[in-house]
Amino acid sequence: MPGYRHSILTSESFAAALDRSNPLARFRRRFYTPPGTIYLDGNSLGLLSRPAERSLARVLEEWRTMGVRGWIEGPRPWFYEAEETGAAAAPLVGARTHELVFTGTTTVNIHALVATFYERRGRRTRILADALDFPTDIYALRSQIALKGGDPEADLVLVPSRDGRTIEEEDIIERMTPEVALVFLPSVLFRSGQLLDMERLTREAHLREIPIGFDCSHSAGAVPHRLNRWGVDFAVFCGYKYLNGGPGCSAFLYLHENRFDRKPVLAGWFGNKKTSQFDLRLDFDPTPAAGGWQISSPGILGSATMPGSLTVLREAGIDRIRRESVRMTSYLIDLVKAVLEAPPYGFRIGTPLDPRRRGGHVALEHPREALRINEALKARGVVPDFRPPNVIRLAPIPLYNTYRQIRGVVFRLKDIVDSGEFRAFSRRRKAVS
Ligand SMILES: *Cc1c(COP(=O)(O)O)cnc(C)c1O
Repeated sequence: MPGYRHSILTSESFAAALDRSNPLARFRRRFYTPPGTIYLDGNSLGLLSRPAERSLARVLEEWRTMGVRGWIEGPRPWFYEAEETGAAAAPLVGARTHELVFTGTTTVNIHALVATFYERRGRRTRILADALDFPTDIYALRSQIALKGGDPEADLVLVPSRDGRTIEEEDIIERMTPEVALVFLPSVLFRSGQLLDMERLTREAHLREIPIGFDCSHSAGAVPHRLNRWGVDFAVFCGYKYLNGGPGCSAFLYLHENRFDRKPVLAGWFGNKKTSQFDLRLDFDPTPAAGGWQISSPGILGSATMPGSLTVLREAGIDRIRRESVRMTSYLIDLVKAVLEAPPYGFRIGTPLDPRRRGGHVALEHPREALRINEALKARGVVPDFRPPNVIRLAPIPLYNTYRQIRGVVFRLKDIVDSGEFRAFSRRRKAVS
């Protein structure tokens, strides 16, 4: 929102005008917002929509009335659920139908794909990741290195951050050396919200003949992807953040069609070709597609919300979601700069200001009191989250948040500092924040 006078930018009527011009505002009625809250944590756990609730109820009903016959005979047979939901989500990430499957969980899918794509050959022994990565990704990479006989410390190269917030693409590319066997990176850094240039990184990795994968947990459903066109070898993303599938629901696994000749290293019977799976032979005959990377029976209950949720996302359209998300994060950033940056407030934006380098959330930093201010915000009915050491994450979701809510949160933050009420809260953290 460049160029607006302070008094206009911060006015309630300006927020109301922005709400009126939000083409996605009508989707808000389809979501359940926890009563009495301003929910800005959709990047951690997206909210339940009515269509998702209905598709879960349908599966319970099928189980209740059909028992085991639900696998094959229901209106939407469970046996094909993982592939069908993958196909339904494919347009959100620029995948082709058989490149995406809804299976397992994010970390398990990282294991399944890295086990396949991390091949130690001669001097190519290293995995390239980054120093601001989400911990589970790093744990998985280190254990894969150890499994293949490498040294988890020496063989994992973590691209350092220059400023503690972001990673420069230049710095990543510079480290794509002949020792690197695999590059595995997040699309959006979970703390600062920086969006990496996946297209450029994929091109550079392939120029050096290095396979590359992305963890898109923090971008799927918020940012359009062109995974097929960019040639990304593989990707994973969870279903419970911007995809609104519910706590711990199944996750997505992407495999580029040019890699369908690879063999799944962590084999399981649901990766077998559908046509011969129930011949129950001891020779594994994997599906030559993303589906081949499935391991177990799909968690049908944990998958059941997604078909409904995807109808909302697809109707809204990922390009429109992205456009409105950028408008919302830009508004939030501008308000913070106008209201909360100067003393005595001292907040700072940790997210890149260039919207092309930004995912769906904003990292609000406070040098000393981020934890207690976050607690005070929660006491006032706002749902943000805190990431150590000093980041309050705020994710305005165009499908269910409003500009008035964003403005409301900024002025609550101002009040919290003005009144000093955050001092009443403990400096100790809860288990999940
Ligand atoms: C949310 C998230 C995960 C989640 O992993 P689970 O296996 O679903 O617990 C993994 N990686 C990243 C980058 C995430 O943002």
